[in-house]
Amino acid sequence: MSTDFSSAVLAWYDQFGRKDLPWQQDMNPYRVWVSEIMLQQTQVATVIPYYQRFMQALPDVYALAAAEPDEVLHLWTGLGYYSRARNLHKTAQIVVGQHAGEFPASIEGLEALPGIGRSTAGAIASLSMGLRAAILDGNVKRVLARYHAVDGWPGEKAVHDRLWQIAERYTPQQRFNHYTQAMMDLGATLCTRSKPSCLLCPVQAGCEGRRLGQPTLYPNSKPRKALPVRQCVMPLLVNPDGDIWLQRRPDSGLWGGLWCPPQLDDQHALTDLLQRLGWQTQEQQTLEPLRHTFSHFHLDIQPLLVRVVPTPAVAEAGQVWYNLRQPSRLGLAAPVSKLLKRVEHICVG
Ligand code: SF4
Repeated sequence: MSTDFSSAVLAWYDQFGRKDLPWQQDMNPYRVWVSEIMLQQTQVATVIPYYQRFMQALPDVYALAAAEPDEVLHLWTGLGYYSRARNLHKTAQIVVGQHAGEFPASIEGLEALPGIGRSTAGAIASLSMGLRAAILDGNVKRVLARYHAVDGWPGEKAVHDRLWQIAERYTPQQRFNHYTQAMMDLGATLCTRSKPSCLLCPVQAGCEGRRLGQPTLYPNSKPRKALPVRQCVMPLLVNPDGDIWLQRRPDSGLWGGLWCPPQLDDQHALTDLLQRLGWQTQEQQTLEPLRHTFSHFHLDIQPLLVRVVPTPAVAEAGQVWYNLRQPSRLGLAAPVSKLLKRVEHICVG
């Protein structure tokens, strides 16, 4: 029975649920929305410091709407999946420009905003707007798929639809905000990906996955396909002051809007680039390669450290000489941050 399930989950929440997360304080749609977007693909412990910094810098939707794109991407640097940050910014501008600073109070209205899917809309509505709505984030999907031993990969429409039906059915009429939080907590703390603590679980008695003896089989994983490997050369062009030349990438595409060294196909392309720039090259050093994995391919990066004497010495629009001692507040892709850290001692000395 659906009420047995939700009652057991709520009783567990009263005793063990998390109630002191930063976004649970002074709860409002803005704070819940930012936390939900950060928590997509990222664990709570990682998100907390990012969330606190973000809220300190941009405490409400007006501040976010008015922020420079670079500031938003800078606050996101390290969290990955940067389209989330760009959509966050766009949505804030829509909420301020078209909704007088108030988030639409319906699932459909929320879902119409960039970067807000059905589950995120459900979380915002139920946690901060007093609207009964189901959620189906990664944690909830796992709990429900195991509880009902749902066969199939949730990326398939039929499986996805079935899980939504179950999620809707179990969401209670009362205390749906606590239930929503409880389900996220249950998935994050007990029904974990590889080692579920079934003996402590409030719904263990009815859990089909547990009864069958192998709960971790659910939800079924995505059918595997080997990721293709792409290669690139990434020259870190260093001027005599030890600063590194970065360019702002176009808004769409990989690492959109972030600052990166040039990403080139090979050494020939680097020779062409240096010729085009007309900069004198003093020395080139090959650094240890780095692999960065995106959801659909691996990128093998061959970094090079190239000492140059640029003319003119000042960067043009869309470019910057990045000072490693006093880094500017720019959005950097994770492997670029890593590379800059790696060469800091060589460049700054
Ligand atoms: S009994 Fe185990 S597998 Fe089933 S929902 Fe609880 S923790 Fe997950």
